[in-house]
Amino acid sequence: MDHRSFGVDWGDERYPNPTRQGYDVAQVCMNGHMMNSASRGMPDGNKSFCDRCGEKTITSCPSCNNCISGLDWDGPSPEPEPALHCEHCGKSYPWTERKKAAALELFAELLDLDNKQKEQLSQDLDAVASDVPRTKVAAVRIDTLLAKVKDQGADMLKGVLVEVMSESAKKMMWPNQ
Ligand SMILES: [Zn+2]
Ligand SMILES: [Zn+2]
Repeated sequence: MDHRSFGVDWGDERYPNPTRQGYDVAQVCMNGHMMNSASRGMPDGNKSFCDRCGEKTITSCPSCNNCISGLDWDGPSPEPEPALHCEHCGKSYPWTERKKAAALELFAELLDLDNKQKEQLSQDLDAVASDVPRTKVAAVRIDTLLAKVKDQGADMLKGVLVEVMSESAKKMMWPNQ
């Protein structure tokens, strides 16, 4: 199949995106740092390794090999954040898994959680990273846990949580922000 007849596939490295149209392909490090949201349209900004954490960078989903969507050249949106899940196969991206693990570890450390509580929290973190029927109850439970953490710990946790929560989960948890 000549896929050019369906419009140029900007995700294919054989096609750069010199005209800078449509969605570009994002280059993201394994820890979720956006390296270049327009890796095809502005390839000069590409990096093999992250200049913030040293991890390797990817432009496609490790599970299905489809491109990670980046800047919308036709949209008004500012620099996009890397998505939590692949829009093609639904799997969470590596950085989402790592951030969930980091949030779990920090909660466990600050609240001295036992294994059963950790298991529950792990499921709740999966739910708040998505927009599913369980998201709300998971957000309530996480909010209750968060209320038990004091001062600086709570701020730290909130910072880690924000990065793994879906937009709808954030709105449920912090409706005034
Ligand atoms: Zn990085
Ligand atoms: Zn995928």
